[in-house]
Amino acid sequence: SPSPAPLLWQHSLTQLGPQFFTRLQPTPLATPAWAARNHALASELGWSALLDDAHLSALAGNALLAGSDPLATVYSGHQFGHWAGQLGDGRAIWLGEAASALGLQEIQLKGAGPTPYSRRGDGRAVLRSSIREYLCSEAMHGLGIPTTRALSLVASPEPVRRETLETAAVVARVAPSFLRFGHLEHFAAQGDVDSLRTLVDHFIDHHLPQADERAPRWQGNRYAAMLDLVQDSTARLLAQWQAVGFCHGVMNTDNMSLLGLTIDYGPFQFMDGFDPGHICNHTDTQGRYAYSRQPNIAYWNLFCLAQALLPLIEDQDLTLQVLEGYKTGFPRALGDAMRAKLGLIGELASDDLRESDWSLVEDLLQLMAKQRLDFTHFWRQLSHAVAAHQEGSLAAFEPVRDLFVDRDSWQAWLSRYMQRLGAANFSEVGQSMLRVNPKFVLRNHLAEIAIRQAQSGDFSEIETLHNLLKSPFDEHPGFEAYADLPPDWARQLEISCSS
Ligand code: AMP
Ligand code: MG
Ligand code: MG
Repeated sequence: SPSPAPLLWQHSLTQLGPQFFTRLQPTPLATPAWAARNHALASELGWSALLDDAHLSALAGNALLAGSDPLATVYSGHQFGHWAGQLGDGRAIWLGEAASALGLQEIQLKGAGPTPYSRRGDGRAVLRSSIREYLCSEAMHGLGIPTTRALSLVASPEPVRRETLETAAVVARVAPSFLRFGHLEHFAAQGDVDSLRTLVDHFIDHHLPQADERAPRWQGNRYAAMLDLVQDSTARLLAQWQAVGFCHGVMNTDNMSLLGLTIDYGPFQFMDGFDPGHICNHTDTQGRYAYSRQPNIAYWNLFCLAQALLPLIEDQDLTLQVLEGYKTGFPRALGDAMRAKLGLIGELASDDLRESDWSLVEDLLQLMAKQRLDFTHFWRQLSHAVAAHQEGSLAAFEPVRDLFVDRDSWQAWLSRYMQRLGAANFSEVGQSMLRVNPKFVLRNHLAEIAIRQAQSGDFSEIETLHNLLKSPFDEHPGFEAYADLPPDWARQLEISCSS
């Protein structure tokens, strides 16, 4: 295979000073083998040659990509509502930032061995959780939801002890920046305002230059403007999560991206039956990170970030005023996302109808919750019904009606919805709904099937799922079974933090 042009590295983070990281080498991984290669992403980045066999050892952590400068960064954070002190990259090794067709991208190897921040951990990631991260990163991207991306997945027979003995894997992931709320909390907690300023200036200069354009809105304060952009991207992210029924599972402040990306794929779940109180993380006994609580938790996390930024913003009232933006921005973003799911976009998305549309959404969600209707399946069926609707008959909606036990309530809701759509072009509206209500999401049982096969040496199901999930709004004829509800055996699947 052809030898790649070397990546054009730029190590701006590395130049900030030793207080931000520790240089180190990945720990070699026994007998690595490709479990998945994301050729689509590599090609988007202009890095296709990086997935040649010649680079297997580098993407396993057994060799260095020429010019990389590996290190682990330090961060702190609030875990489950409590200050946890210093954490840091305990098993993700940062190789550097390199130029790509999508702009500068940082590359990390997750599971590449212990670092000074591993605490009692072994620095490894098991194949099971690495498959989940690889697939979900790409599923989120396919859904149009900001996320860290997964470039490759390397498996190894090397044993890793969790509840049982499993095997190791390494995911190579990329993002414009892996900086988290916790990176800033770390230096703020230490009272090291100089380092805090250095890191935040780096972040703004390299990753959020829009902050300077927005600063005039905030008395010329670039740090207030930065917080404003972070609350805004976080609000949009949370709206998108809620709209696809995604539960993150571990929304600690160290798992919150400053760029508003979905990061840290652990016990996440796309909900099957709709239950607003759904808790996907078996370890989260209090339900702190339940589906319906996610938006408020994001606000709580933004409050922690704001506190960390206060020494730079130097104005408490201004800081609180910036945070207020989330309280209007999130509901607006969620309202827009839910209206799009109902096809109320374009000419139908009138600002005057915002409130009455929201009650249409809420009442529908209540009906769905009462019966725990499958979230993904319901929205997709509704989209097809709208697309097929012919004036003068509700026949196209019969398959949706049949999902409900309480048909009267459904019928009452449907007539309000039909009235709202009025003389709309149903075919066009339905098509727009089919572009936002996915047919395929990474349901736990689908991931589990791919995991079980991979554990016995067959990685093909990972690729099958990746192909469906990267275009989840397409029909993919022949793959209907992948849109099915979970089978009985999957009811007992419990996903914990262990990874
Ligand atoms: P998480 O719950 O995934 O957000 O991880 C919390 C902290 O634990 C982070 O600092 C991780 O780097 C660290 N960590 C998680 N698993 C391991 C592991 N197997 N080895 C070392 N550090 C780990
Ligand atoms: Mg984490
Ligand atoms: Mg994690």
